[in-house]
Amino acid sequence: MAVGTAATVKALDPIELREMGAQMILSNAYHLHLRPGDELIRDFGGLHSFMGWDGPILTDSGGFQVFSLEGLRTIAEEGVEFRSHIDGSPHSFTPESVMAIERNLGADVIMQFDHVIPGQSDEAAARDASERSLRWLARCVAALERLRGESAGGPPPTTTIPSGAQLSTTNFPLPAPNHPQALFPIVQGGIHASLRVAAASAIRDLGDWPGFGIGGLSVGEAKPDMYRILELLDDELPRDRPRYLMGVGFPEDLVEGVLRGVDLFDCVAPTRMGRNGAAFTSDGRLNIKRAEFRTDPRPLDDACDCTACRRFSRGYIRHLFVADEILGLRLLSLHNVHFLVRLMRDARAAIMDGTIRTWSRDWLARYHSRAPSPE
Ligand SMILES: [Zn+2]
Repeated sequence: MAVGTAATVKALDPIELREMGAQMILSNAYHLHLRPGDELIRDFGGLHSFMGWDGPILTDSGGFQVFSLEGLRTIAEEGVEFRSHIDGSPHSFTPESVMAIERNLGADVIMQFDHVIPGQSDEAAARDASERSLRWLARCVAALERLRGESAGGPPPTTTIPSGAQLSTTNFPLPAPNHPQALFPIVQGGIHASLRVAAASAIRDLGDWPGFGIGGLSVGEAKPDMYRILELLDDELPRDRPRYLMGVGFPEDLVEGVLRGVDLFDCVAPTRMGRNGAAFTSDGRLNIKRAEFRTDPRPLDDACDCTACRRFSRGYIRHLFVADEILGLRLLSLHNVHFLVRLMRDARAAIMDGTIRTWSRDWLARYHSRAPSPE
């Protein structure tokens, strides 16, 4: 999934995402609740119409963001009170309020509100957070059922924007969303195997889920710990439902995750690194700002067929970065997202061909063959 935290995949137009074959966008309930507000987005017909993307969207609940606000929040069984990172205003999230927010946003897949802890947390802290996340999952399910009942029989949604101007339904895809949304539970438990198994088992007992989130990884723990937990969960989660490894999205992590049964990923890396001048290539990462690329006529990646690689040289893109030209940020963002979309397309093909083991071994060997250039 391309990451569009604030209802935009930074620097990219949804048309470009569709053209490169991106299938799904991730957005974030915490950020959109604070700005511009989930009710405003509902009144625009939901996130799809608001941001001009008619493909699938997944919204994260904002648990990760809220629990990252060290010193700005207090946690209780009921929920979390926190202050906005934008203006310091007080807010509270409960499983019920987060379901209402995600309902207003109208994404196709919505994540439960969970208690997120740092990657190196001890077993007692991990157990406490995991068990609270399970209790919150049950409350999310009840809240979502209530909200679905209300939108099925309730009054039609508001069709005015804050200025009071009436929106015409002929040129605007109203009404607000009330389609069924797939609620994904999130398996927590830190790096503790017994807690992960217990969480997966308890979640399976709670319902027949359309998919599963794997949370609390890539948050500071060592890579071998992440791989060990994924291998464990590969046997604990149903094989016919998508597994979503939350917040993971560097090229090598995608390949390692696919090998361990993961289907969905997200990470801000391709666009964030693109804006900083880093490009993913089949031979590892390169920093386009380095002097060695000044006279380099080659594309970013010989094997890439994105707009940036088909039309522009490394030397030109380096010039754009050095001169602080906005096209440079766009081209690298576009290339990096395209690179990951193509990587996953190739991985899918290798799975279907039965060649995923050799394909991934060769891919990883080539990618790691050149040390990443210094940032
Ligand atoms: Zn490219």
